[in-house]
Order: sequence, then C-alpha cells, then structure tokens
Amino acid sequence: MADPFFLHVYWDDGVTQKITLLGATGSIGQSTLAVLRQHPDRYRVFALTAHRQKDKLRELCREFVPDYAVLDDAADAAALRAELRAIGLKTEVLHGAEALIQVATAPEVDCVVAAIVGAAGLSPTYAAVKAGKKILLANKEVLVMAGALFIRAAKECGAKILPVDSEHNAIFQSLPPDFSGDWAASGVRQLVLTASGGPFRDLSIEELAKVTPEQAIQHPNWNMGKKISVDSASLMNKGLEVIEAHRLFNAPPEQIGVVIHPQSIVHSLVEYRDGSFIAQLGVPDMRIPIAHALAWPERIESGAARLDLCSLSHLSFTPPDTARFPCLGLAYEALKTGGTAPAILNAANEIATSAFLEHRLSFPGIAHLVANTLASFPIIAADTLEAVREADSKAREKALRLLA
Ligand code: NAD
Ligand code: MG
Repeated sequence: MADPFFLHVYWDDGVTQKITLLGATGSIGQSTLAVLRQHPDRYRVFALTAHRQKDKLRELCREFVPDYAVLDDAADAAALRAELRAIGLKTEVLHGAEALIQVATAPEVDCVVAAIVGAAGLSPTYAAVKAGKKILLANKEVLVMAGALFIRAAKECGAKILPVDSEHNAIFQSLPPDFSGDWAASGVRQLVLTASGGPFRDLSIEELAKVTPEQAIQHPNWNMGKKISVDSASLMNKGLEVIEAHRLFNAPPEQIGVVIHPQSIVHSLVEYRDGSFIAQLGVPDMRIPIAHALAWPERIESGAARLDLCSLSHLSFTPPDTARFPCLGLAYEALKTGGTAPAILNAANEIATSAFLEHRLSFPGIAHLVANTLASFPIIAADTLEAVREADSKAREKALRLLA
C-alpha cells in the first residue's frame, strides 16, 4: 500500500533551512513570514514571489533580504530591481513562470512553501516535488488537479509534502505516527473534516440568490484571500478539501466526512474503529499549522494566541446541506468519477469565483457553471501533467463560453 511520503522522519539536522515562499504577498504568505520572523536562527528566506504586488514585495525584500524575488511582469521586475538597488539591496529580481520554477528547484533550497492561489501554482509546486524538496502545501488546487501525479512524484523523488491546510494538518496530527496509508491496518474508520459553514451558513436558497461578493469575503472566523473566502462561502472549499484529503491520506471517498462546526476550534478529526475520535484544536490562526509543518516533527512557537478552553461555551457539529450548497456534492462526485473530473471542477470553479467576485455571476451561478462545465466533457485518465493541463484549459474555455 501507499508508502507514507509525508511520514518519514525529516532530515532536520538543526542547520538553518532555506525557504522559497511562493505567493509571499498573500494571506498564507503573510502568516508564513510571521512565523519565520520569530525564528531567524532556524530559517532564512531564499526567495519570495508575488504575482503583481510589486510594492508589497519590495517591503518584504527590505525586511527579509532574500537572494531572489519574482514578479510576473518584466517591466515590474526591472522597476523593483532598480528600487532595491537604490536602497542597497542585492536581491536578484526575476520574472515569469520559468523563474517561479527556478526558485522552487534551486539546489540551495530546503523547503518550498506553496502558497500561490489556484492552478497558477501547479508548475512550480510540481517542479519542487520533482526536485525532492520539503513542500509545505497550502495551494490545495494543485492536489485537486493532479494529486495522483504529485504523490507518485513525491515518492519517486523523495519529496515530503506536509499539509498546511488547517483541516489536513489537523488530520496529519491525529493519525497514527506510523500511518502508511494502509486503511485496513491503521484502524481508522473515517476522516472528519470540519467546516465553519462560511458567512451564508444560515441563509435560505432565496436569500443565497441575492448575496454579494462583498458579503462573501467577510469570513466569520478566518482572514483569507478572496478566492478561498468565496470557496468557503459556497462550500466548494470543503469539496476541494475532501479531494485533497483523498490524495494526501489515501482515504476512500466514502470514508471522508464533513461536519459544519461554526466555531472553527476543532480543525478536523480522525475516527478510529474502536469508537475513539482524535482531534486537533486551536484558535483559528494559520500560523499554527504553518509552524507545525515548518518544524515537524519538532514544535516551535507560532505566535498564535493560546486557546482558552474555559472561554468556549459550546462546540457544535451539524451535517452540511448540499441542497443549499451544491458545490460540496459536485466535488464528491468529481472525486468518485476520478480522472480529469477534479481538474475540470477546479478550473470551472476558478472561472466562476472570479466572475462572482466581478459581479458577473450570481452566487448560486457558481455551482451551476461548475456542474454545466463538468457535464460538457468526457472524463479521461489524468495520468500525465499534459492531460491535466489540457483538461484545465479546455474547462476554462468552456466555462467562459457558458458564462458569456
Ligand atoms: P491570496 O490571494 O491571499 O494570495 C495568493 C498569492 O499568490 C499572492 O502572493 C499572489 O501574488 C500570488 N498569485 C496569485 N496569482 C498568481 C499567479 N497567476 N502566478 C503567481 N502567483 C500568483 O491567497 P491565500 O488566501 O493566501 O491562499 C493561497 C492558497 O492557500 C490557496 O490555494 C488557498 O486555497 C490556500 N489556503 C489558504 C488559507 C488561508 O487561510 N488563506 C487556508 C488554507 C489554504
Ligand atoms: Mg482549510
């Protein structure tokens, strides 16, 4: 059965680790830097990347003085280089997709934090896996698209994929330490992912038709990027996480459950055959799973507030409603269908969430667009990166046509 790609004891020899942070200016990027800031003796930043946020990246370069900084656009990169030289920094500024791969695979790099949002992270993260790096994976979309390829490459190339997504990190902490992906031997009955339910948890179908992007990005418990905030509101985030859990832990779809837990204190649970549940709890702060994955198997300070157990009046768990939130059901179906279905689901969802954020699609329209895009294609094997990329780009084209 599956070799435990993430459970080998990591070769942490106490030497400073060099980090490439893909997506440094985003929400996960900022939380990662907040942890790194506390441990300058353990970690040094090798590269920071951003897409278009040049000024934010300049400020991060000023503070962390990386060897490399990467932007998307050549002119932006030239401007940043000039600005850094003017303040006496030698950071080399690169641009474009190849540069992301270059900094994710450089021989000096020990650890790559994959915190780009969406399919844009596929190539550099896959390249980092192929280069045998330790990967802190937040960018769940890449596992949804090409999870089987990632896991195979990780085994072949000696890469370690450590989950940063809070639910998967909680499951990682709650599984037996010697878990090998062998379900029969492990005594695990079920993985239970918790979901806050998002800002629209209690709305009726009629009310959901009228919600705005501004409301969707006001998440009750977590402060996140816009795309994942919309995904949380539609429960597509939980659907993507069900697929992510299947990929990471070799879990059969019917053994991955979801419960709505509005307090976001229990970050997920593992149910064992004998009736025991083991869970990981904490305040909702991404610095906790990031610090855990960074230092694993050691424990370091994350900077998060401590959970005051006595302040918790109650913790509630209810089943999700897939009639009001069909995206979760669509994700389960795509997982069971397999092949390119999850990549198509993800691509259509990326188009749909952007359209919703730009007021070009209603909130219920997200699930409709995903379902219609999925229904437009025959599903084929996702056994090469080319097949996955092609499914992704055709699904985007189709979703855009359906939107028009
Ligand atoms: P974000 O939008 O705040 O940040 C995204 C980062 O990616 C930015 O640095 C941006 O410059 C970069 N980026 C965007 N498009 C890019 C492109 N085309 N090419 C290269 N870089 C690009 O997003 P986030 O909330 O930090 O989420 C990042 C990933 O982590 C997502 O996959 C999300 O699902 C996952 N995640 C986030 C959280 C959270 O709390 N924010 C929790 C769990 C998982
Ligand atoms: Mg999550």
